[in-house]
Amino acid sequence: MILVSACLLGIECRYDGRSVRNDYLLALAHKAVFIPICPEQLGGLPTPRLPAEIVNGDGFDVLTGHAVVVDSQGKNVTAEFVKGADEVIKLATIMNIDMAIMKERSPSCGVTCVKRDHILVQGMGVTSARLTEQGIRVITSDKICEEYVRHYRHWK
Ligand code: SF4
Repeated sequence: MILVSACLLGIECRYDGRSVRNDYLLALAHKAVFIPICPEQLGGLPTPRLPAEIVNGDGFDVLTGHAVVVDSQGKNVTAEFVKGADEVIKLATIMNIDMAIMKERSPSCGVTCVKRDHILVQGMGVTSARLTEQGIRVITSDKICEEYVRHYRHWK
């Protein structure tokens, strides 16, 4: 079983009420059990919602209280982002999950980078950082390409 950012599977849970469907992933949906998660919804934020960014750090910094998440109108939504990450960890624990495919560039799900002031900066989103802390392997959605399709047999 693999946790997957729900928007990659065509679920319209993004801040703008849309999805970012990844057809490579959908092609694999019958080969592995995908568990769709949207940390921002699980944290209690509505859809659609205002876009948000991590200020002064990345997801690890948010989890240690050294950075915050702020929406485009300046509202601090750190608590919702951390709650969403915690809810995902609950699910991962219940389901004994050790792998997640997460939407790159998101302040929750980003794996190698997140957006800040409309540019990409290195660092993980809040939920990907939390999953990593728990020893769960996190794969960027940008890597879901032919390489993974070729090796799907090794997926749990
Ligand atoms: S990137 Fe993550 S938090 Fe954002 S819509 Fe997709 S699943 Fe939800």
